[in-house]
Amino acid sequence: MRALTISAHGGLDRLELRDDLPTPEPRAPTDVRVRVRAAALNHLDLFVLGGIPGVSITAPWIMGADAAGIVDAVGDAVRDVRVGDAVIINPGLSDRTCEYCLAGEQPLCPRFRLLGEHAPGTLAEYVVVPAANVRTIPGSVPAATAAAFPLVTLTAWRMVVTRARVEPHDTVLIWGIGGGVALAALQICKRIGAQAWVISGSDEKLERARALGADVLINHRTTDVPRFVRERTGKRGVSVVVDSVGEATWARSLGALGRAGRLVTCGGTSGPMVETDVRRLFWNQWTIMGSTMGNDAEFDAVTSELRAGRLIPPVDSVYDLADGRAAFERLASGEQFGKVVVAID
Ligand SMILES: [Zn+2]
Repeated sequence: MRALTISAHGGLDRLELRDDLPTPEPRAPTDVRVRVRAAALNHLDLFVLGGIPGVSITAPWIMGADAAGIVDAVGDAVRDVRVGDAVIINPGLSDRTCEYCLAGEQPLCPRFRLLGEHAPGTLAEYVVVPAANVRTIPGSVPAATAAAFPLVTLTAWRMVVTRARVEPHDTVLIWGIGGGVALAALQICKRIGAQAWVISGSDEKLERARALGADVLINHRTTDVPRFVRERTGKRGVSVVVDSVGEATWARSLGALGRAGRLVTCGGTSGPMVETDVRRLFWNQWTIMGSTMGNDAEFDAVTSELRAGRLIPPVDSVYDLADGRAAFERLASGEQFGKVVVAID
């Protein structure tokens, strides 16, 4: 089968389209094989390309975490999906036997893994995953939209709904609008009825976010974000910050956060090390919380949204698998608004 692979870590020139890889077979009776119709890129893929400390790959390594496709083989014990079903894939793999998994909190599993990072990825004609990691969707959902949906929507749902517990009276500040998680967080906040204040360095991206319901637009290149937020809120600050940028934005996130505010993070695309003044943390009674991917119940919840035609992810661009490197270049440019998708036909 064809797949976009790497055989060593490095830059975009390491990406290699192969057409000689064996089609994977279901390994367990609970596995399904999906004929991938489209796969979406995430910042995770750039981290995998560059190499993640402590994570080793075996060459040729198939990239990609997100995908949608058609079930094309099922193990003997699979009951909930059938060959021919259109599905989306939850990229998070867990052992399903530990105390966290049994409590329904799969992303806390000590053996939690991600497709494309710890297991063969989705930028391939076929991928094998446990049936528990797929959900059926209407065949009418475009493949690119479906592929763009799982990782960012699941991540944002857990951040906004489960972790930060955003309610209609909240004002949520969202960094990096145009990125997939940020856009999903915006849409989820508007679905809840909360105020969504979005930040970008691009006025064009901000205007496009307005069309998705953003209430306040902030260009961080021309605006002092904490000062602006303080002025607009009568010095109170926002109640929630969604920050997946990390190093470059952390101080400003805290500077904009009001008393008893919650900051939720799922990553640090600009760098991992941040500084927090513990005096401000306790005095303001902030809650700083991490979040990773989502559990089975959250995957059910977001899939229900997709089936109902809600939380539709903006798709920035669609590339053919043969142009996979160009798709990665688009992702690395940071110029995209929404998901970069690779069509696999
Ligand atoms: Zn587990």
